[in-house]
Amino acid sequence: MAKKQFKTESKKLMDLMINSIYTNKEIFLRELISNASDAIDKLYFKSLTDNSSQISKSDFKILITLDPDAKTITLSDNGIGMTAEELESNLGTIARSGSLDFKTANGGNKSDEIDIIGQFGVGFYSAFMVASKVTVISRAYGSDEAWKWESSGADGYTITKTEKESVGTDIIMTIKDDTESETYSEFLDEYRIVGIVKKYSDYVRYPINMYRQKSRQKERPADAGEDYKPEYETYTELETLNSMIPLWKRNKKDVTDEEYNNFYKDRFMDYSDPSAVIVSNVEGAISYNSLLFIPSHAPYDYYTKEYEKGLQLYASGVMIMEKCADLLPDYFSFVKGVVDSQDLSLNISREMLQHDRQLLTIRKNLEKKIKNELVSLKDNEREKYESFWKNFGRQIKFGCYNMYGQDSKNLQELLLFYSAREKKLITLDEYVKNMKDEQKYIYYAAGDSTEHLEKLPAAETVLSKGCDLLLLTEDVDEFCLQVLHEYAEKHFRNINSGDLELESEEEKKAAEDAGKESRELLDAMKEALKGKVKEVKISTRLNEHPVCLSSDGPLSIEMEKILASMPNNGEKPVSDKILELNASHPVFEKLKTVFAENNTEKLGKYADILYNQARLIEGLPIEDPIEYTKNVCELM
Ligand code: ADP
Repeated sequence: MAKKQFKTESKKLMDLMINSIYTNKEIFLRELISNASDAIDKLYFKSLTDNSSQISKSDFKILITLDPDAKTITLSDNGIGMTAEELESNLGTIARSGSLDFKTANGGNKSDEIDIIGQFGVGFYSAFMVASKVTVISRAYGSDEAWKWESSGADGYTITKTEKESVGTDIIMTIKDDTESETYSEFLDEYRIVGIVKKYSDYVRYPINMYRQKSRQKERPADAGEDYKPEYETYTELETLNSMIPLWKRNKKDVTDEEYNNFYKDRFMDYSDPSAVIVSNVEGAISYNSLLFIPSHAPYDYYTKEYEKGLQLYASGVMIMEKCADLLPDYFSFVKGVVDSQDLSLNISREMLQHDRQLLTIRKNLEKKIKNELVSLKDNEREKYESFWKNFGRQIKFGCYNMYGQDSKNLQELLLFYSAREKKLITLDEYVKNMKDEQKYIYYAAGDSTEHLEKLPAAETVLSKGCDLLLLTEDVDEFCLQVLHEYAEKHFRNINSGDLELESEEEKKAAEDAGKESRELLDAMKEALKGKVKEVKISTRLNEHPVCLSSDGPLSIEMEKILASMPNNGEKPVSDKILELNASHPVFEKLKTVFAENNTEKLGKYADILYNQARLIEGLPIEDPIEYTKNVCELM
């Protein structure tokens, strides 16, 4: 019998499979099971249109048979089968050559090879990753003849007539011998096969059966004596390996919370229940089912580079990707879950997925769903939302700030910050609703702890004027607000930067007058500070304290601190600082006296001490501790 040669492209793919160093060889089973399930679909559909009543849906099944002695694994289906011509055209050439671009593989480069196999479902030929010989015995629906296709690889294939009792296809793979670097015999192991089926094909619509070895205790013989020891025997039992109807396809009202929670914990390896479950069943231009979870705590590696976002992606019940990152924006990277669509092809590549319109639509819908769920949690279950915020708020704030704030308007209603007046977390909306009529700004202070911030001189001033104040304690906070710029047309204002516009006309005038009067003193102090501050001026934000530092321009003192603490990224930006003095404080009187004495050296020392005190209040280090201590001691 003459061997037929594979078509050129098939031969190349075959070579790739045979010599594959691809580590994920187990996917061959997924590919063959999907083919079997498709073949059953086709027959089922035909039976509906043909009105042939002999076929009942419950008869359809896929059977896996292991024979470790013969070193074979056989996959049988009672689907539509193939005629001799179909065997020839389907298995002799690559049906969907369009989806495979062989240019990259032509070089025979190993890394290209991994790339190709990793990105494409490789269909029937993937059997050759694990098998030295593949035999396909098939009888097509409506035919009495059966045909056998056989190939040991690249040297071609044969098709001969054979016998088969019923319609369908058997694929018999003779597993390769183990080598030093590869074990193929694992694919003859019952447990390994069960694991692979569950991993990739748990939700295939038809039962995937296998005879499994079991053990049971033999019945105790009637005449057994005192010293009878129980005996065991092995037997085989047909078991269905897949659970068939996925949880995400079931109607939400038919599934209990416990089922959802257990599914989540089991599949995403968490020990605690999720804080929210989001179910969607969408039908339309694109149809999909999704089941998403918001975890109740952050994984230990969440805020590290190691954490990988992504949802499990299924095409018609078959898993095609474990972590599809393209389905989630970074700011919702904590979401776990599953998306299943019948409109996606099993063999779609990673690159194609990135640009896939349907996937993009799904992503947009999911994003909306997640956001709505969070908004509803915030509005209706505040405690739960606050706990969510503790875990993932930082990520949402990064989301606001990222990409020049392109998503900030979408995310702003999710933000929570600590209110100095309410002593709890509040939304921006809540802040604005409680603003005084004449209040112009949303005030905030940024630093490392709320306790410290509350005691800032300017904080006391803002609060004493009856305005609330947001206390920002995370490094990303102020960057996030700066990118937002405003909320409900109210601009944000750092209490240590720029004009607070809280003082009355008289207070403003008094400060101006005091400034004019002491112009020379203030200039002399600026001079003494040798470029450390941009200006020395009379403050309107001080009540009790003698001094404070404020900043001018977009970079605040807190931001300067954060940027300085980041790993080296070249030059560290520095904020423009203003030293503010309290004109009604006794210290100011003292300054005036020293200035009147014309004692430049002494004035310089005072200026240095006050400047460093202001730095301390801001949480900045003293610039020259030795000089500072010397000055203080001298003046004491
Ligand atoms: P794909 O499934 O992506 O089309 P494959 O190489 O896996 O590519 O299979 C090629 C073709 O062979 C299939 O399209 C189908 O027509 C046919 N085929 C494969 N397996 C079976 C089967 N178990 N029963 C019937 N036809 C099959």
